[in-house]
Amino acid sequence: MMFAISLTMNVNINDKIGTIVNDIVPVDRVAQKVNRKLQLLHIDSAGISKTSDADMLSQTIQVSSERIKDIKAFMAALLTGGRIADINRDNGQLIESFSVEAIHDVPALKFYSVNLSPLLVEMESTIESFGALSKNELNKLREDGVLADQLSGYDNVLTDARKLSRAFSANVTKLYTANSTQIVDATQFTFYAFIAVLFIATSLLVIFTISISRSIAVPVTAIMRQIRLLGTGKVDMSNKIKIRSKDEIGLLSEDFNKLTKEINDIVTFKKVIEEDDSLEDVYSRLGKSFSEKCNINDFVIYEVSSAKSKMRPVQPIILNPKEIFCNEEILDNCELCKVKKTGHTISSMDYPDVCKQFRRGIEKVHLCMPMIVGGKTGGVVQFLFDDHNYEEELKYKRMFKAEQFIKESLSVIEAKRLMNTLRESALKDPLTGLYNRRFLQEYTETLVAGAQRKGKSVGLLMCDLDFFKQINDLHGHNVGDAVLKETSSLISKSVRKADLVIRFGGEEFLVILMDINEGESMQIAEKIRETIGKSKIKITDGTITKTISLGISEFPSDTESFWQAIKFADVALYKAKETGRNKSVRFIEEMWSEDGF
Ligand code: GH3
Ligand code: MG
Ligand code: MG
Repeated sequence: MMFAISLTMNVNINDKIGTIVNDIVPVDRVAQKVNRKLQLLHIDSAGISKTSDADMLSQTIQVSSERIKDIKAFMAALLTGGRIADINRDNGQLIESFSVEAIHDVPALKFYSVNLSPLLVEMESTIESFGALSKNELNKLREDGVLADQLSGYDNVLTDARKLSRAFSANVTKLYTANSTQIVDATQFTFYAFIAVLFIATSLLVIFTISISRSIAVPVTAIMRQIRLLGTGKVDMSNKIKIRSKDEIGLLSEDFNKLTKEINDIVTFKKVIEEDDSLEDVYSRLGKSFSEKCNINDFVIYEVSSAKSKMRPVQPIILNPKEIFCNEEILDNCELCKVKKTGHTISSMDYPDVCKQFRRGIEKVHLCMPMIVGGKTGGVVQFLFDDHNYEEELKYKRMFKAEQFIKESLSVIEAKRLMNTLRESALKDPLTGLYNRRFLQEYTETLVAGAQRKGKSVGLLMCDLDFFKQINDLHGHNVGDAVLKETSSLISKSVRKADLVIRFGGEEFLVILMDINEGESMQIAEKIRETIGKSKIKITDGTITKTISLGISEFPSDTESFWQAIKFADVALYKAKETGRNKSVRFIEEMWSEDGF
């Protein structure tokens, strides 16, 4: 803008200066010379009228004629261009000489020239008519008064010419003033325009700087605040960074929001699983995070139990071992699983057939990651992708994020597994590995609710070895322990997997038979009794055979109270002991009243 203004103004000022320098100044200079010459002509005229000297008269007439010719030459030079030679006609000396171009930009010049020209012609003809006369003729004219008459007419014309010239000079001065004023105005305008443009430019610069710094500083400050919050572990999702632009800062804000969301997802996940009650809940939530947050729907989470050398799919729950993607043998021998064995991630994307245990014929690639818990492989996560376009899937599916979820869950899984182990040990009898009475207390509620829901009976067998004390007395406590262990194993083998065998007291076992039909308990009790009675238990010096007595009750047919039903079984056992031992006795109501319980 400044360039445009200065260019326009420069052209304008140059134009005016050109007019002044090339037109007005030469015209003014010449006009002054014309004026001076007209003034001298007036003096000449006065001399002609007064002098009586014939030589002087003739010379003055000659000089006047030359002056008139000079004026005509000056005017011609102005109109067409040419040389101005100003000669002092009184002494013939050259005053000055200069060239002029044809004048175009002085409009009054034409008028001046057109009007001056006839006056000059008239004056010239008068002077030349004098010049053509001899000295005597001139003298005669003067004496007759004719010369005075003619000079008076000549003077009038001369006066008109001078008036015209003065008016023209005044006009030229005016033109000069107008052009000068325009130059001054243009210069001033340029100055103010420069100031205005500078002001606008500065204002724009300030506005631009503020807006740029706002569009950069505001999101960057917000990002910094979020980073500080992240550092303290408090992710504030309500404080999303506003996306104000689509430039790099906008993209940065968008990416940072995504990152915050992902961190928030993971932090929330950790908090939630820490409060979960069971390991199963943790696995289930981990699975949900894979599908909902990482877009991975095909996966299997295995829990590894190194002590038992087993692994089992915990998420999704797969009951049929044939439905897993690996050979089912890995479930009973977890060492077959390559990831469990090595503790390293494997992927069939990099090496097809990397794992022999992955079933043939499945059109999927697999990526298996270990879950390192307490320094050991406590689990394995198997991710599965479409065989054809897994590279695309991988880009889309968030393996990295899935790994973060796994890492976050590890400490929680470790803590929960430890808790489970502790709980297990508190509820189990270390000698026989059977559940103890405390377990029964915790489990009763679930057991009763299940039985009531199904409308089935629960059989209760209270078993007590006969004359067990004698073993301790005869063979020592260790043998007694061994017999107890063997007895517990024999009882467990005599019942179904769904049934529960509990070490109720020293050498007393409570068998809880699930979902039995009425009367069925007696058959099972007899089966146990016969099994024990027939078994030869090995001891250091031979074998021992023991008998067992059993008291039977059924819940809820005998009583609505589960603990009373146990008591009834105990009463029946007492009866069995009392009436000779090595027998199964079914509780009947009379036993309760007979003995005054
Ligand atoms: P009964 O036929 O009347 O049941 O006779 P019993 O000798 O089996 O009965 P009693 O209740 O008099 O004795 C039970 C014994 O079992 C007493 C105790 O020393 C023994 N006992 C209890 N717990 C254990 C144990 O864990 N190990 C060993 N070795 N003995 C135990
Ligand atoms: Mg006993
Ligand atoms: Mg006993």
